[in-house]
Amino acid sequence: MDFDMLGLAPRLVAKLAEQGITDPTPIQTQAIPHAMNGRDVMGLAQTGSGKTAAFGLPMVDALLKSGVRPNPKSANGLVLAPTRELAKQIADNLTAYAQGSHLKVALVVGGAGITAQIKRMANGVDLLVATPGRLIDLLDRRAVSLSNTRFLVLDEADQMLDLGFIHALRRIAPLLPADRQTMLFSATMPKQMGELAEAFLRDAVRVQVNAPGKAVEKIEQSVHFVAQAAKFDLLVDLLDAHRDELALVFGRTKHGMEKLSKNLAAKGFAVTAIHGNKSQGQRERAITDFRSGKVRILVATDVAARGLDIPDVRHVYNFELPNVPENYVHRIGRTARAGADGAAIAFCAPDEMQDLRDIQRAMKEDIPIASGRPWEGEGTTKKRPNGGGAGGQRRRFGGGGGAPGAEGKPQGQRGRSKPANAVAKPKSRPRVAAR
Ligand code: AMP
Repeated sequence: MDFDMLGLAPRLVAKLAEQGITDPTPIQTQAIPHAMNGRDVMGLAQTGSGKTAAFGLPMVDALLKSGVRPNPKSANGLVLAPTRELAKQIADNLTAYAQGSHLKVALVVGGAGITAQIKRMANGVDLLVATPGRLIDLLDRRAVSLSNTRFLVLDEADQMLDLGFIHALRRIAPLLPADRQTMLFSATMPKQMGELAEAFLRDAVRVQVNAPGKAVEKIEQSVHFVAQAAKFDLLVDLLDAHRDELALVFGRTKHGMEKLSKNLAAKGFAVTAIHGNKSQGQRERAITDFRSGKVRILVATDVAARGLDIPDVRHVYNFELPNVPENYVHRIGRTARAGADGAAIAFCAPDEMQDLRDIQRAMKEDIPIASGRPWEGEGTTKKRPNGGGAGGQRRRFGGGGGAPGAEGKPQGQRGRSKPANAVAKPKSRPRVAAR
């Protein structure tokens, strides 16, 4: 199967070949023909599976073939993404597909000057990639009109449908024509999100390449049961063992991750960090430096790193486990992208036992143990301030609205049996701040 057989315009197929993209990935094979038939699509695929091309190529193809030029301030297609970095990555990919054609691609995200964005939109564009907040700002200023927008894409849809974005989405979607084509892509689509998603779709085809929530098979996963206070030394040892390879280190809080990045730098590692306290310029620079290999270690929180395509990451460390199980899948999806091998190494402190159980349950698989042994008597009675946890409601999915389901209560240390590898007294995790 190649891209010709999917019905894409020959010039687009040639453009892809120039970029080394010759064989469609499974999600592309499944989604592109439906999308080209004008159907709404709900695509469930892991990060790194080629999702961007799965929704991007049919739009570029349709716009190339139709030759319809955009009206002033309008966009023929709109892609919404939850983070600025992801939006930029999508815009870069679409620009690459459209290179050499008349198609214009624009990016509007917060943290960048709005005047230039208003100017860019004045004559209209073929494809607009946006984060919801800035788009609403431009809509309010009447700098953008969506009344002619024929395509709507929601990337990382589970996050787009979560608390932080759903209001924005409910404002934006009705501004598009009712007969638009909508495509919704996500690595995970929990049931209640799926129901919410239906409201934006019409008779959608559901395409799926992996069981939702299942980790990419090429990723070698492992977990170290290690006390919070011993995590740093273990991380340094593991990073030292793979000096030449790119590593991503995930944690929960922006303050914690900033401190970790400084401590790693003090140990002589070329390291940078992305989290919600960094400016847009700093975030972009961090990713550019990491992509180019100028820095070898990127320390990140979930919100800052979600959906990013960073090639050649061999190791993803979960320095702290995410308290939203689906984020584990997103995090480890940063490695083993586009068919490469990768390793995902989790650190689990005593008060993360329940998080680990939730993750394993969501993935329907156990993570092999690299060192230590599961902490006993932990996690089963953990209370969560936002109503999740044992016997409680399901937790909300993470994202723009802060740290839903975050743990705010340090746990007592009584009744805990230490595993063999515990080298320091376990400390409770710092309180989780908004990311
Ligand atoms: P995505 O899941 O869209 O973030 O894509 C992950 C990576 O795979 C990106 O670097 C893409 O350029 C690359 N990619 C997408 N489709 C293909 C393909 N058919 N063949 C090879 N690489 C691809």
